Amino acid sequence: MTVALEYVCDDCARPFGLDRPETTCKACGGLLEVRYDLDALPRDFRERAAAGRPMAMWRWRALLPLPDGAVQVSLGEGDTPLLRCDRLAGQLGVGKLWLKNDAQMPTGSFKDRGFSLAVSMAVALGARRGLTYSSGNAGASLAAYAARANIDVVVLADYLCNPVKLAAIRAYGAHVFRVRSRSTAEVFKALEHLGSEAPYSFVNFLNPVRHEAMKTYAYEICEALGWRAPDVMVHPVGTGGGLYGAWKGFSELYELGWTETVPRMIGVQPSGCAPIVMAVADGASFAGPAGDPSATIAQSIAGGSPIKGGRRVLAAIRRSGGTAVAVSDDEIRRAMALVAGEGVLAEPSAAAPVAALGRCLAEGKIRPNEEVVCVITGSGLKQPTELASTVPAAPPLELNADAAEIAQALASVWPVAT
Ligand SMILES: *Cc1c(COP(=O)(O)O)cnc(C)c1O
Ligand SMILES: [Zn+2]
Repeated sequence: MTVALEYVCDDCARPFGLDRPETTCKACGGLLEVRYDLDALPRDFRERAAAGRPMAMWRWRALLPLPDGAVQVSLGEGDTPLLRCDRLAGQLGVGKLWLKNDAQMPTGSFKDRGFSLAVSMAVALGARRGLTYSSGNAGASLAAYAARANIDVVVLADYLCNPVKLAAIRAYGAHVFRVRSRSTAEVFKALEHLGSEAPYSFVNFLNPVRHEAMKTYAYEICEALGWRAPDVMVHPVGTGGGLYGAWKGFSELYELGWTETVPRMIGVQPSGCAPIVMAVADGASFAGPAGDPSATIAQSIAGGSPIKGGRRVLAAIRRSGGTAVAVSDDEIRRAMALVAGEGVLAEPSAAAPVAALGRCLAEGKIRPNEEVVCVITGSGLKQPTELASTVPAAPPLELNADAAEIAQALASVWPVAT
């Protein structure tokens, strides 16, 4: 039984029923937020959720807005590992460091949490068609869940979307168009003007439930830590749906009394395209368009035009006592190599949180004794060109299939002690 009550508009506070395919507020165009009655959660819910392992993310269904009785569209998302990384922590000077590895989700990115919920919701509401705009990972995730649910979707892929992500979207069977634009704001404006012809929107925040599923990140992390919150969570920020959803999850756990603290949320963006970082530095509650999405290898977080001024993500960062930092592509490449040294391949946007740690420590934004969780939001396998750019340009030496040559090669790696 879900304890979700209704949608409420961010701007005019009008309530809307959860049983309608709403996207934004019909009265004022504001973003809709799901409200819950946390007091209605059964007393033994936590224990039952802990026992429900195989259902992964859907263990937390009572804290998600899917109506009772509706079918879960699932590919086995959630319950990703929280990896303790003592060696990497030592290299970076962090007290204790964990990587929450969402790169091993069904389509290789954390987007699957959101789309499992949003596609389930769409099916429950009778929507047979949907639309999203994506730099790649969201499109691939929507395409996969739409295939699973047998609904028809169009993915508007940003012209920067790389060939691997584009192929994945097409392989899952979505309709795809590539969109050229001078800014993401231009695309969002065009989408707003589709009017009554518009199919159900899966664009983050315009779709009112995608970010709700990101709360499950927070639940899983605190559960793995023995119902404790870390001191700091460092999260890459594109639209901010991931950071905002995680913050909402941490806040709920605190409100439920399951944890005694909430983490400071630190948002990370590429220095070539960092509107949220600039707004945080200015103490602003509204972020205007800034930067150039083509100026960085971190394609998944290169959103130059925050939706509705990024107010939600800015509020989450401020309330948590956190901040936002920008990282260069060189810092991101170094971080990709460091994370690979722990056995994890991260795409550039996913390595950005680790790239930010050095600067956060140097600037006192993280103290050396603190416990930090960095989220690995997407797999490095989906950006093979950038992955290859983190290793030496010279290709490996070629050998003949000859014992003497192989022995000589081994001796060059491990010289024989004399
Ligand atoms: C989408 C994405 C992000 C950014 O998520 P938002 O919710 O848009 O802020 C970060 N990393 C990866 C790998 C992504 O696919
Ligand atoms: Zn409104």
